[in-house]
Amino acid sequence: MSVLLRLDDVSVRFRVGRRSSVSAVDGVSLDVVEGETLGLIGESGSGKSTLARAMLGLVPASTGSISWDGESVATMSRQRRRELSAQVQMVFQDPHSALDPRRRVHQSVREPLDVLGRGDRRGRDDLVRKALADVGLPPHLHDRYPHQLSGGQKQRVNIARALVTRPRLLVCDESVAALDVALQAEIINLLADLKDEYRLTVVFISHDLGVVGHVADRVAVMYLGTLVETATAGRLLAAPRHPYTEALLSARLDVRGTRGTERIILRGDVPSPLAPPAGCRFHPRCGHAVAACATTEPELVVVGGGASACLRVADLYDRSREDQPVSGIGGVR
Ligand code: SF4
Repeated sequence: MSVLLRLDDVSVRFRVGRRSSVSAVDGVSLDVVEGETLGLIGESGSGKSTLARAMLGLVPASTGSISWDGESVATMSRQRRRELSAQVQMVFQDPHSALDPRRRVHQSVREPLDVLGRGDRRGRDDLVRKALADVGLPPHLHDRYPHQLSGGQKQRVNIARALVTRPRLLVCDESVAALDVALQAEIINLLADLKDEYRLTVVFISHDLGVVGHVADRVAVMYLGTLVETATAGRLLAAPRHPYTEALLSARLDVRGTRGTERIILRGDVPSPLAPPAGCRFHPRCGHAVAACATTEPELVVVGGGASACLRVADLYDRSREDQPVSGIGGVR
């Protein structure tokens, strides 16, 4: 499988006032492999949505590089960027605000084709009808306005709008978070069917490890702008190799009442990204922290078929002590 999107040491900073800046994403290296569903998980403020926006080119990377199919996005011609914008699409969290209230369903879905100037009017209308049929929206709803649809129907329209350009990468940013549990399951199943039919690569962003674990092949865990663990979904859920992932997992199991051992309670709130803690950013909340954690920033190291950024990963989770720092291209990202 080839790498579709590669992020190399990507940071995204925003200016705050005249003199300071905040790092929403800091030094993230991550590959998105063609055909996979990559889950991106973390609490609010972890930087996962900013990272997704950087993947889509909606916010520029302050440092580092992003490449698409082996080609640097930064040096692409305007024409190539235009082509890329059709190949990478996003489905947002709030299905209502993502749609223009003045446009009928078929107009909203056709808009990306109009902007790209694809084909003639009849050809575009055929593509719109196909996309709406693929998401299961019956023809009698195609003429309606967003306020005349349910939340689930609106999210189907948003998915059709994202798919109508036949993208290769679909980024779903908390796309089911605003829906009730039954609708979440419906939309997740729909996305799984469409992924096969449209041969999509998917980045699925969520704060809910249960949802991500259900849909993703591989999961990347973010904390305060940095990547702290990556692994296959199965391994991550069965045997997390970072205290933060472990805490997320324990909270989820505790909520469902299936946990046999004690829940891990995280101390305090996520610190402000304006003043991230030195050393391991997670150390003020980590129950395993030692003195070195407050001064030494952990690197991602290969462990257990994935990677973990924890100074104590060998003591806590892995006895092999063969872990190697992940550096440069070709590591476990
Ligand atoms: Fe906890 Fe230290 Fe590991 Fe950070 S490096 S996760 S503080 S044990």
